[in-house]
Amino acid sequence: PKLFGDFEKNTKLPFNLTLRYGIFAITDRKLPVETMCDRAVIANNTAKGYYDTILAYYDDSMRQKIIDEQFLTNEARAGLKENQFEVYLQPKYEIRTNKIAGAEALIRWNHPVRGFMPPGAFIPLFEKNGMVFELDRFVWNDTCRLVQAWKKKYGSCVPISVNVSRADIYSPNLSSYLTEMVKKHGLKPEDIHFEITESVYTQDSGTLINVVKKLRDSGFKIEMDDFGSGYSSLNALSSMPLDLLKLDMRFMREVSEDPRKSGILKFIMELAELIHVPVIAEGVETEDQLNRLRSVNCQYAQGYYYAKPMKAADFEKLQYAGVKKPAAE
Ligand code: C2E
Ligand code: MG
Ligand code: MG
Repeated sequence: PKLFGDFEKNTKLPFNLTLRYGIFAITDRKLPVETMCDRAVIANNTAKGYYDTILAYYDDSMRQKIIDEQFLTNEARAGLKENQFEVYLQPKYEIRTNKIAGAEALIRWNHPVRGFMPPGAFIPLFEKNGMVFELDRFVWNDTCRLVQAWKKKYGSCVPISVNVSRADIYSPNLSSYLTEMVKKHGLKPEDIHFEITESVYTQDSGTLINVVKKLRDSGFKIEMDDFGSGYSSLNALSSMPLDLLKLDMRFMREVSEDPRKSGILKFIMELAELIHVPVIAEGVETEDQLNRLRSVNCQYAQGYYYAKPMKAADFEKLQYAGVKKPAAE
């Protein structure tokens, strides 16, 4: 059949065409043909996005993964209603004074059957299926609730950062939603910081950067998360809307494995100084790493060396240790 009409006269097509094959080996002839085809399609789908794979063989783990994802997707809504999701907090420290300067809200899922799940087990899926909108709104609001309660109880609270998924950035009216949200909780925009991963700045930059600019114009503080994991153009960095650079964890790891990498750390600190933004290093696990950060005058750090993400009640104790509650009204 003439697939491409007149183009076929020319052997050269005006575009590149790559054929990919999904293969299901028939071992059980009793299976309906439709099911067999579905499985070949499942195999084929796993090859999408890989330029070097044109053949993909079906195996049952592929189907299992889809069933699994479907299960988590179905469970998520009920989970939100039944309070299975819990905001954990990990403190951020000012290196010089050793004082808590903030915290990051990190979500955990206590599933009745699956047990305790870290975000890596469901956030990537929720970003694909849209559930991340609801989940993040829950995290942001719950964080506001905590900050509001602590401000009321103790008079002040360090700013708490929440993560923003790239999917959230595309949602219309994000900035007015957030402005309303903090107002509703009796907070100011600077009480809540937003961590936006570096790749958001580097892909489709026009639209996304405008959204981030708008957030910043509304008074919110913006932290560029995972800095160094993507490919920020160093040139563009100076014009990007951000208040804090958050160094990707990989840096800390590489610097301890290969001390020559310290030069890169120094370079980043100089760069940050040039654009007048402070730096926080994440994933700090050892005294040695902390000393390296001190030697380049890095201002803030977060990581297991100081504390792991913890329940809100534990963070409350940590933050207000030694602080006397103002007399009850
Ligand atoms: P992230 O925002 O870059 O968060 C840092 C991750 O590093 C957290 O993992 C934290 O627990 C972990 N971490 C902190 N200190 C250390 C350390 O010293 N060593 C090591 N090895 N790890 C450390 P977690 O909580 O599993 O979160 C993973 C990612 O999931 C986060 O990366 C963030 O991108 C995403 N995430 C977490 N909570 C939320 C959320 O509420 N909404 C959205 N959209 N994403 C979230
Ligand atoms: Mg983060
Ligand atoms: Mg990060």
